[in-house]
Amino acid sequence: MLTKKQTRLAIAIMGKMFPDAKPSLVAQTPFQYLIAVLLSAQATDISVNKVTPKLFSDFPDPQTMAAASEAALRQDIHSIGLYRNKAKHMKAASQALVENFGGVVPKRRQDLVTLPGVGRKTAAVVLADAFNIPAFAVDTHVTRVTKRLQIVAADASVLQIEQRMTHLLPKKLWVAAHHRLIYFGRYHCLARAPKCLQCPLLSICADGQQRLAVH
Ligand code: SF4
Repeated sequence: MLTKKQTRLAIAIMGKMFPDAKPSLVAQTPFQYLIAVLLSAQATDISVNKVTPKLFSDFPDPQTMAAASEAALRQDIHSIGLYRNKAKHMKAASQALVENFGGVVPKRRQDLVTLPGVGRKTAAVVLADAFNIPAFAVDTHVTRVTKRLQIVAADASVLQIEQRMTHLLPKKLWVAAHHRLIYFGRYHCLARAPKCLQCPLLSICADGQQRLAVH
């Protein structure tokens, strides 16, 4: 397992590799950001950004989305995976926002997770990127990279990864580390073909060393 020092070094090196790592979903308000994150489950951010301009023009706030028919919502997002379920969640989350939070996206994780379709990861992304509140979201890239680098155990759960990372990193780095890990996973430590040979972390990555040894 990597030490705290090695983990911080790895995150610093990822920062040098990807100095522009940042959220790629486009939204104008916390509500729209929440909806974009809901849409991004099992879909690329690029595909989400293609549908949201029309969606947010038709239904810009919780009130209009809560009042919309699911069919109308589906119409705007039908090119996105799982769009039927997502339309349901968008409407239900908007209704809950109007009924329980005065139409305002709450800034507390325990409130966010009460919204239909919003789990721990979505809540963390909204806190971090819509409100700049320290939170560490664990997605598929973060999971793969932290396991390969042995920052966490191979069988660590999403919650265990979040707990370990927030323990090893200072709060002020949580949001940046999340984005760096995503970029690193998306463009360098790819799922099928990680670029181990050109990896600046090879000297501390047992997984990469093993891959190169067997090839
Ligand atoms: Fe990923 Fe390979 Fe780098 Fe390890 S050495 S972090 S597996 S790219």
